[in-house]
Amino acid sequence: MIKAWAAKGPKQKLERYEYDPGPLGAEEVEIAVESCGICHSDLSIINNDWGISQYPAVPGHEVIGRVVAMGLQAKGVEIGQQVGVGWGAASCMHCHQCLSGDQNLCAQNLPTIVGHYGGFAERLRVQWPWAIPLPDGLDSSNAGPLLCGGTTVFTPLHVFGIRPTDRVGVVGIGGLGHMALKFANAWGCEVTAFTSTEGKTNEAKSFGAHHVVNSRKEGDLRKIAGSLDLLLVTVNVPLDWAAMIGTLRPKGRMHVVGAVLEPIPVGSMDLIMPQRSVSGSPNGSPVTMQTMLEFAARHGISPQTEHFPMQKVNEALAHLEAGKARYRIVLDA
Ligand code: NAP
Ligand code: ZN
Repeated sequence: MIKAWAAKGPKQKLERYEYDPGPLGAEEVEIAVESCGICHSDLSIINNDWGISQYPAVPGHEVIGRVVAMGLQAKGVEIGQQVGVGWGAASCMHCHQCLSGDQNLCAQNLPTIVGHYGGFAERLRVQWPWAIPLPDGLDSSNAGPLLCGGTTVFTPLHVFGIRPTDRVGVVGIGGLGHMALKFANAWGCEVTAFTSTEGKTNEAKSFGAHHVVNSRKEGDLRKIAGSLDLLLVTVNVPLDWAAMIGTLRPKGRMHVVGAVLEPIPVGSMDLIMPQRSVSGSPNGSPVTMQTMLEFAARHGISPQTEHFPMQKVNEALAHLEAGKARYRIVLDA
């Protein structure tokens, strides 16, 4: 039996929950959880914001832990090895996307916390390629948030070939956003933070922002119109999208990783004449995750965290829901 914390239905507080994981699958590894970050997506799954939740839901997809059991076909890790788990727990490994190295785009990609039990638990299981070995030099007690939040903001820098000469904006300085500032700065870019919280200005600069603007002040957005190569949107609320797209230079890209529930209106002429793009992406592939962790270790990138014991998971979730997390909460097992 595995002891975990689960929501029994939408918007319910998490309760203690025990489940029988059954025999270990041939490709699975079992991981004893040491710590687990809390992503806004955990809240969205608990609350069924996206209509895809399955209950009981065991959240937690920013896991650091040690491999304690391996299925007969499991490879790539060893018993006792420290690994991380993010949004993905398995994929088919034989479709076009999987064979191309885009396992995060597999139609059968199994999210760690939907139809599968996640890391707010003493143990969890994933298919072996999704247990990412931690590189030397990473502070593992604080590394959990890199696995989902870090990967999600690193992926666009990596897959779109962002250059050190580029200007990057980050909208929303929360869990994802503050890590995005650190990654974009280490990437060599000129970085602008977009925040709606005035008290975050100095911290945004300490995370790597060269400039800070107010994400809700039209005047602020107008002042930097036509200047950015990449605008990374990490908020989950509607904003002045025309003004946001207006901050892009010709050939610029607005890349959405925040799960904004309402459709985002886009004026065709705002795209056509300056040849701009609007795009999105889910988390990242195992190889991108590995590359991100190595980059983070090399550049000393670590999330700024607040730690709660796992038993206080409901207080921690309330703290995040109230917008008070600075900047990522980690639950210690
Ligand atoms: P978070 O820590 O709660 O941060 C969200 C930030 O959005 C806040 O810190 C705030 O930044 C800004 N914000 C919130 N309400 C706002 C409002 N009314 N007006 C303007 N700004 C507002 O959340 P997170 O964990 O970073 O996750 C962000 C989003 O990404 C969520 O929707 C999550 O589900 C999604 N996500 C997507 C992926 C993916 O693969 N694409 C992966 C992980 C998470 P300021 O205070 O600076 O304004
Ligand atoms: Zn997440």
